[in-house]
Amino acid sequence: MVRAIAYGNWEQPIDANIFGIRSTWQGELRIPFACHIHQPSSTAPPNIPFHQFARLPAELQLRVLQFCDKPTLFRLMQTSHLIRTEATKLFFSDPEAWYCVEGEWLEMGGHPSDGLHDIDFLPCIQRLHVEFNLMDEKTWTDGNIRNFWGRVQCLFPQAKNVMVGDESIDSPPHPVGSSTASWPPPELHRRVCQLCPPDINVFVSILRGDGRLKRTLWRRVTIQDDDNETQELDECQNHPGPSIIVPHKPFRGQVGICQYLWSQCWAIANKEKALRVLGLAAIERHHFHGRHEAFGCPAPNCDAWFGRPEEFTTHVIRTARRHDDSYVLLEPYQSLFADGEKTLEELRQRQREIEGPFLRWWGKYGSDERRAAEKEFLRELEQGGPFSKQRWLSTMEMWE
Ligand SMILES: [Zn+2]
Ligand SMILES: [Zn+2]
Repeated sequence: MVRAIAYGNWEQPIDANIFGIRSTWQGELRIPFACHIHQPSSTAPPNIPFHQFARLPAELQLRVLQFCDKPTLFRLMQTSHLIRTEATKLFFSDPEAWYCVEGEWLEMGGHPSDGLHDIDFLPCIQRLHVEFNLMDEKTWTDGNIRNFWGRVQCLFPQAKNVMVGDESIDSPPHPVGSSTASWPPPELHRRVCQLCPPDINVFVSILRGDGRLKRTLWRRVTIQDDDNETQELDECQNHPGPSIIVPHKPFRGQVGICQYLWSQCWAIANKEKALRVLGLAAIERHHFHGRHEAFGCPAPNCDAWFGRPEEFTTHVIRTARRHDDSYVLLEPYQSLFADGEKTLEELRQRQREIEGPFLRWWGKYGSDERRAAEKEFLRELEQGGPFSKQRWLSTMEMWE
């Protein structure tokens, strides 16, 4: 199911830059860091002369930085000692760039060993998107909420804007026909915002709707009323675009191989899904970008007609799953998506090549190999500092 496909995907360019883009299981796109810093091929200046830039007076260099685009800033962060700090600050201050990290990892302690995220990258993040599969009232006690915010402050000291996102669908009992926009945010999410430290701008993002889902965003505001100060959640008009996936840490040892395999397993599935989501966007774009060409549903025995962008995507979401496999992409998208499939097949092949030897090393359940492997595995984990045993047990279950 891809019920949460965002509106407006068709307005974005669909070219070779889309390879690597991922989608959540419900169809929300996520941008890998490598794609985020990639210069669109058409506008890439050939080898910017950085040495000339470095000869400018420091003050002028800092001034020039203000006008640099993200790929250039990212290069400057690596090439020039003098301006690294400034380039880094500017790079991360991009108001559109929200970096997403896994909420369940933070909930289980936020230990560097357990997560996939590059731990040195985290302190640079200014806009943080913490994504939860499901925020459950049973586990989110006030104590746990405070611990969660403590970890956020410790791991992300620069994150002054934090968006807490929930992937589960919020469907409170409300009068039939009342607009979903008028529903107040759930009590649990209110509480999470209430207990957020005062120096953080906190947002909460929730999925709602029937058929096609839509995200609603609230932000915490403080209302000064005579000598009373209260906190309220205010609904925001716009939701940020797709978040950026934090680069992963270097993977080391058998634990590293395991984490690599585990992350690739998800990455491949999420890239497959993204190709499906972007395929729908390509069809919309073909008909409505710079032109207006209404079209009919390509599924046999369906006479739906689409005169405006988004109608086709909404129709595919609302109709049966096999319905959306019936469309045929036109050129140039057909070749582009064929290339995308080929890239995925290469990833699957590479995954198998690494998984084979790892599984032989891991051995069968109950065997001597397994006992030896488990011992080595535990030793590596313990060397890496605190970790969540529960999390590792569920990770390893993948291969039983
Ligand atoms: Zn057409
Ligand atoms: Zn149809």
